Amino acid sequence: MFLRLERVGKKFASVTAVHELDLDVAQGEILALLGPSGCGKTTTLRMIGGLERTSSGQILLDGKVISSAEQFSPPEDRNMGMVFQSYALWPHLTVADNIAYGLRKRKLWKGDVQARIEEMLRFVDMSGYGSRFPAELSGGQQQRVSVARALATKPKVVLFDEPLSNLDASLRESMRFELRRIHKDSNLTGIYVTHNQEEAFTLGDRVAVMRNGKVEQVATPTELYERPRNRFVAQFVGLANLLDGTILERSGADVLVGTEVGSIACALQPEQRFGVGDRVSVMARPESLILRPAGQSTGPNGWSGIVKDVVFSGALKDHFIDCNGVGIRAQYLGKARFAVGERLSLTIDAENAVVMGAED
Ligand code: ADP
Ligand code: MG
Repeated sequence: MFLRLERVGKKFASVTAVHELDLDVAQGEILALLGPSGCGKTTTLRMIGGLERTSSGQILLDGKVISSAEQFSPPEDRNMGMVFQSYALWPHLTVADNIAYGLRKRKLWKGDVQARIEEMLRFVDMSGYGSRFPAELSGGQQQRVSVARALATKPKVVLFDEPLSNLDASLRESMRFELRRIHKDSNLTGIYVTHNQEEAFTLGDRVAVMRNGKVEQVATPTELYERPRNRFVAQFVGLANLLDGTILERSGADVLVGTEVGSIACALQPEQRFGVGDRVSVMARPESLILRPAGQSTGPNGWSGIVKDVVFSGALKDHFIDCNGVGIRAQYLGKARFAVGERLSLTIDAENAVVMGAED
């Protein structure tokens, strides 16, 4: 692995911000760190960049220790680029001089510096803006310049800390695809810190979900969404109906879980060792629920409910359904099909009913 964190920890006086973290990043990969505020994302990033020392464990870059109890390379020796939420551009320097800042410190030929500035401006779609000052640019343009500056020196790793959080919603939406394009075109290696699931999924080749200074699960976006390891991950990476229950039967990978709404047939993963009598939760994503008018057969996996509300929120129709006192949310594309007060049958395919431990 190109970048490796081995049992990395960080303590600030009485606060343990990061607990024995193990992470790997391959060359050309972006690993997104996703988690709620205060879970240790920035601290982890700062230790990788050398802005913070580690309290325990070690960090290796390209096979070489860059942080440990014995060794510490300062940030300027790590060849990493950084992009922050605040852009952090020099206000008294032009766009071109901001981009050239790291290049000039390397004592390159003037012509080479100029060529690289032009190349970077083109790359972030800012050609012609080189002589402007940061105050003369919009937030989105400033963030493009800070990305250009971070990439100008061809860093080994680029560290992003919530780079889109200061932008308004529609710009955030387009910039996350723009950053993805930049990543794919430049094959950059990076860590992308965010508390926003969409950004983490758009930009992360893999995503590490963090909570309280620990990694809960590292996987591709699809794996995280379809096979979250626990309730926390299930809820952090999307909408999740979570039903508490007990395993009633098991036959190979097939289990029947008795839940508050009825019994649900679920398919276990090979590594899952749940047995009869275990307390579990069953996760059903809102879009994987199948709704039918009451009375139509739903097979063994059916239970019933009453529609409490139907909400039109654009592309999706949200159905809030009361099932034996438990609130269930189902989402459909296209026209709303059920009306408030209507009784219906719900069902889910066994492979979409995900079993996990009952604890949070
Ligand atoms: P995140 O970026 O995920 O929001 P941080 O890494 O900034 O989280 O913070 C993790 C924890 O460490 C928090 O409880 C925060 O208050 C604490 N922390 C971060 N930096 C410092 C510091 N310099 N001194 C003391 N505590 C800190
Ligand atoms: Mg942070």
